[in-house]
Amino acid sequence: MRFHFPVIIIDEDFRSENASGLGIRVLAGAIEREGMEVLGVTSYGDMSSFAQQQSRASAFILSIDDEELVQEPEESIAELRSFVQEIRLRNADIPIFLHGETRTSSHIPHDVLRELHGFIHMYEDTPEFIARYVAREARAYLDALPPPFFRALTHYAADGSYSWHCPGHSGGVAFLKSPVGQMFHQFFGENMLRADVCNAVEELGQLLDHTGPVAASEHNAARIFNCDHLYFVTNGTSTSNKIVWHSVVAPGDIVIVDRNCHKSVLHSIIMTGAIPVFLMPTRNHYGIIGPIPQEEFRWENIVKKIMAHPFAREAKGKPRVLTITQSTYDGILYNVEAIKAELDGKVGNLHFDEAWLPHAAFHDFYGDYHAIGADRPRCKESMIFATQSTHKLLAGLSQASQILVQDAERLQLDRNVFNEAYLMHTSTSPQYAIIASCDVAAAMMEEPGGRVLVEESITEALNFRRAMRKVEQDWAKNQDKQWWFKVWGPDDLSDEDIEEREAWMLKPGDRWHGFGRLAEGFNMLDPIKATIITPGLDVSGEFAERGIPAAIVTKYLAEHGVIVEKCGLYSFFIMFTIGITKGRWNTLVTALQQFKDDYDRNQPLWKVLPEFVAKYPRYERVGLRDLCEQIHRVYKENDVARLTTEMYVSNMEPAMRPADAFAKMSHREIERLPINDLEGRITAVLLTPYPPGIPLLIPGERFNRTIVRYIEFARDFNRAYPGFETDVHGLVKGEDGCYYVDCVTGHP
Ligand SMILES: *Cc1c(COP(=O)(O)O)cnc(C)c1O
Repeated sequence: MRFHFPVIIIDEDFRSENASGLGIRVLAGAIEREGMEVLGVTSYGDMSSFAQQQSRASAFILSIDDEELVQEPEESIAELRSFVQEIRLRNADIPIFLHGETRTSSHIPHDVLRELHGFIHMYEDTPEFIARYVAREARAYLDALPPPFFRALTHYAADGSYSWHCPGHSGGVAFLKSPVGQMFHQFFGENMLRADVCNAVEELGQLLDHTGPVAASEHNAARIFNCDHLYFVTNGTSTSNKIVWHSVVAPGDIVIVDRNCHKSVLHSIIMTGAIPVFLMPTRNHYGIIGPIPQEEFRWENIVKKIMAHPFAREAKGKPRVLTITQSTYDGILYNVEAIKAELDGKVGNLHFDEAWLPHAAFHDFYGDYHAIGADRPRCKESMIFATQSTHKLLAGLSQASQILVQDAERLQLDRNVFNEAYLMHTSTSPQYAIIASCDVAAAMMEEPGGRVLVEESITEALNFRRAMRKVEQDWAKNQDKQWWFKVWGPDDLSDEDIEEREAWMLKPGDRWHGFGRLAEGFNMLDPIKATIITPGLDVSGEFAERGIPAAIVTKYLAEHGVIVEKCGLYSFFIMFTIGITKGRWNTLVTALQQFKDDYDRNQPLWKVLPEFVAKYPRYERVGLRDLCEQIHRVYKENDVARLTTEMYVSNMEPAMRPADAFAKMSHREIERLPINDLEGRITAVLLTPYPPGIPLLIPGERFNRTIVRYIEFARDFNRAYPGFETDVHGLVKGEDGCYYVDCVTGHP
């Protein structure tokens, strides 16, 4: 396998016809003859963006001009120093050489010298000798880069051995036998297919029993993420959550669960046969899910809930697990130390679903507001689990995920027992490219690079927020076009303190969050998640005269090449991952400005949403503003903001254990009931409205009036506005076009 990492030479004479230019080009030629590529440039250019090139280089040679060093020593040293510092900020290991003609290291200050791998004097050694030295250091650096599994996989793929094992495409060869297969092969490329191997390959180790290079990689990642045990999972955090649960929860156990958790946690409840007692998050009227108030975590209050629960109060033993969403969709975080202090020893296992938070361990900005990291104290008795989607915010391929474990002082993870649960949920044919991406995503976060990557995403998120405010201020001067989008977050961020965690804390009674009186110091907002609020609804749930439903904005953005993550009634959100670029968020700001422009002019939809109109011709001549008004009016008439808030916080009566209700479905002891007959009946399925994609009703719970009213609204709305359907997973559309839900037979 040949990788392309040139030796970068920075010398202002690199292209000159003088002696110094000739000399450096002779050296460049000698390095190339050693088999390395060389890239020569004549200046440091834009210092910081050039230093970012460190990820593409195998070594740097920086020429210092003797003339300049004598005449303007301070300036030339300062330039050199800041360049070297920029590189070292991100990369502690890449070789950096200084190259000069006569001067010696005595002219270079110590703080710069100690970052260097060597000082090259052109006329003291032959170019060939120097080239060998540079090439050797550069190779040693590159050789040390790949973490264990990725290293083994690249070696295996390069080996070219014939294989008799699965997969049947045999390193991609099968594809070459058919035209469409050829296309597939050309699209994905040879390496991806050669690296697609099965677990019969001994030298790569086994994911399923954590041996060989896979084990070495998991170990390496555990060190980087500062946990006691780390397991790669190749089927998403959906599976990581189920593994954690099956390793500690059995039928009849009490479990304490965030009511607005991801559906995989609800699936875990069903699969394990647990009795869930829910903690209720707050919500504001934008539809944004807030934190579970600290009061809800108080042990007395949990006990009260258990005693009031029809099944849990009969159950024995302490709760086996508590699972909360650590970083909600909108970026709200909990103070983990406060939760540990309250529940250590009371709940056996504290599980933080950190699907959106794998970056937090790498920056002090997040302090105690993530589960596991350096210098975090152990619980005395409770185990800490964190499940993270490497693919959401770090550089993992889709489905790349990991489980982190921190042992308690008095209890350590039994790896054998844990692995029984791991095996239950893991395919015996894991995808090796995903394992490699788990491995590489972790290695990328190695200090000091990881910190800088996270800092960059925070910085860009803040720049985006500043840019949005600037636009708002500009429009505020314009009498009749005053509106603009808001980014949800603290109101009073001055430019200076925006980088302090303190500014992002959810303080009791602050109006911007709309969650009321939260406990001091318990929650913060992660700035890398940006919820954008469209006009029409204020935080108290009051509808304005005019409004712009978010679904229309996101359709518009999609047709302009901007795909957003999630869409609510009057909000949608984007996130600043470590893959963020200035271009990406600037394009969003521009697209939003175009939207505003088209809205203010009420441009017809055939013009501004051509793809959408091709699918739904009925909107052809409707103006963009008119459509917004129409849908806004319907929302307003139905008071949808309050309705959706109320249905989520409405009293949900558990009539059966979730697993028992689901079992009724497996045995077909269910009736498919029309909406009008739902009230008071027990659902056999999970009911999840999109937006927001948070499960509303869980198998075994009864339909109440509020929820039925919401479904009726969704039905009527979907009939009136095709193309803007509110999707409710769990609703079945009958052949008559009406909606049904599978409920448990009879009225138990
Ligand atoms: C996305 C998500 C998951 C599931 O992660 P996948 O990697 O997509 O399987 C679990 N929990 C939360 C809170 C999520 O947002």
